[in-house]
Order: sequence, then structure tokens, then C-alpha cells
Amino acid sequence: MAESLTIERTKSPKPKPDFSQLAFGKNFTDHMFVVDYVEGEGWIDPRIVPYQPLTMDPSSLVFHYGQAVFEGMKAYYSGGDIMLFRPEKNFERLNQSNRRMSIPEIDEQLLIDSLKELVSLERDWIPRGEGQSLYIRPFVIATEASLSVKPSSSYKLLIILTPVGSYYGSGGDAMKPVSIYVENEFVRSVRGGVGFTKTAGNYAASLKAQEQAGSAGYDQVLWLDGVEQRYIEEVGSMNIFFKISGKVVTPALNGSILEGITRDSVIELLHYWDIPVEERRIDMEEIRTAYEAGTLEEIFGTGTAAVISPVGKLRWDAQTYKINDEETGPLAKQLYDTITGIQTGDKEDVLHWTRT
Ligand code: PMP
Repeated sequence: MAESLTIERTKSPKPKPDFSQLAFGKNFTDHMFVVDYVEGEGWIDPRIVPYQPLTMDPSSLVFHYGQAVFEGMKAYYSGGDIMLFRPEKNFERLNQSNRRMSIPEIDEQLLIDSLKELVSLERDWIPRGEGQSLYIRPFVIATEASLSVKPSSSYKLLIILTPVGSYYGSGGDAMKPVSIYVENEFVRSVRGGVGFTKTAGNYAASLKAQEQAGSAGYDQVLWLDGVEQRYIEEVGSMNIFFKISGKVVTPALNGSILEGITRDSVIELLHYWDIPVEERRIDMEEIRTAYEAGTLEEIFGTGTAAVISPVGKLRWDAQTYKINDEETGPLAKQLYDTITGIQTGDKEDVLHWTRT
């Protein structure tokens, strides 16, 4: 347990929702973790308290200039153990986001220790069905009451938890390929910007394109680079991979895409399996050429929510490309089965990713 962590238990536990019908991010557990940043004192008073609303001054900086970052990760219940998947990576990335957004860094070990306490306290909230998990949302907000455009002198970091169902309903066999709209008008991020961070504004700025793609009948947006709108970046809230002529390629980390933890896990697994994988710039034209030559074998997205999401259809430049007959490809399936198996303790953790 983190040294100075205090715990105040709720006196009125909530009834649990029906775990067989969970809507994403709608039901929150009984407790939350909070730690405050005070200028001159640092991050102080880490505590677990009953889940409750926040009272904030309307002039709090976060409401005006968006100084806010967040993370997303999951805990799984496995035969009496609570398993976290590479949590140290999420807190490293949180600090990476903090640095870019002028938010003071926080001790990553304090967060891991506090998170373990929190999920242990909430163990009955972790659904145990296939593909179900407890989604973990750490976030930081600027709380100083001020309208000056400047870094806040005070912050709050919170961790809230919400039980989530299987992304694919009845598990991996039901993996449903998604359709993707390649975005030619809006861009998500530019070099030198904040694309590599999980800052709230990136998601607010993505909504319009997502809305338009949805109206056109597509599930998600594929973002191209912010300069030439030609090189592939990422999809919605996932990183993207292509399998072309037996080789796997994914966009290199260039500062404008998010450094996905599932992306990193996929790359490590491919290395482990001796499947060639390249991280480099990928031109949309290269995808078109491979498609026309019949060498574009699979496309899939990677992210905490779905783990692996096969892409069945791409829409680009008034043309529609059907990938692998809109079926889930064998590599996507193998990666999904392996990573979810490791996360839930059903498969050997060959790369030492899970923490209890
Ligand atoms: N890109 C974006 C923009 C995201 O929001 C996410 C989700 N965190 C990802 C990629 C995938 O990252 P991860 O595998 O760490 O969930």
C-alpha cells in the first residue's frame, strides 16, 4: 500500500448493475482515488473516498483552456486474482501527457500502488464473464480559479472505475470487422502538436469527423497526416496495422499519433513470433497499390477497448475497398486470442505483462 494513502469507505454501497447488460462508462463503482497538487507542496493527500461529485469554481482553468489529460486501462478478474495489464505503461504515458500539457509529473509507483488498493476494494465490481472487465479511468484536471491563460497552480488527479462488457458481445469468435472512412478534410494532429498525448481536446476536436463518418454509414475515421493528408496516422481511438505480402506495417511514432499500449504489445508479440513488422511512414497510395495487386491481406486497429478490431471496409477518395472479404483475418484473430488470453490469465504470460 502507498505510504500515506488513506481510505474512507462508503456507508451506502450502490446496488450493482446487471453485468450482462453493461453500457460503456455509465455505471461507476462505490469509491474513487483522489490526489491533489498544490504549488510548493507537490502531489499531496492521496486518498480513496466514496465516489461523489466534485465541487469546483466556475473559473477553474480546466473549463476554459482545457488543461486536462486522461488514461484508459482495464482490470480483469482471474480465479481470485485481479490482473492489471501493463499498468506502468499507462502511468508513464500519463506523465508524458503531463509534461506536454505543463502539468506537474506524478510518482508512477504511488499511482500503481493506489490503483491496486482501489481495485482490490472494488473487487466485487469486476464482472467475471467472458470478455468483461473493469475499465479504469485516471485523469487530471487544472483546478486553479483563474481566467489567465497559464499553467494552473493546482490540479486534481482522480481514478474512477466502471465495469464494462465484452466489446464483441459473445467473445472473440464474434469479432466484427469495422468500416473506416479515410478523413480528407479534417486532421487530428500535426507535428509539434499534442497528438501523442491523451489530452481532452484531441477527443473534442475529433468529434465532428466522427459524426460525419457515422452519417455516411462508417464506424470510425482514419486520420491522415496534418501536412499533406497522405500518410496514415491512426483510427478513431486505435492505432492501425496492415498486413501486406506477409509483412506487417504500422505508422511509426512521429509525435502526432498516440503511443498505444496495445500497439506496443502487438509489435512485441509479432517479434516474439518472428513475424516481420515495420514501423514507418505509410502512404495511402501504398495501400491502394497493395489492394489492387491483391497483396493487402489484413487491416486491424489496436486499442484498450476492443484490443484488436479487424477492418472490413475502407472508404477513400470516393472508392470503397473491401478487405479480406470483410472477414476477420487469421492474424487479427491470433493476436486477439493471445492478448485477451494473457490479460485474463488463460494463456501463459510469455512477455510478462500482467500485474496482480
Ligand atoms: N489512439 C488513440 C487516439 C487513442 O485514444 C487510443 C486509446 N487509448 C489508442 C490509439 C490506443 O491506445 P491503447 O492501446 O493504449 O489503448
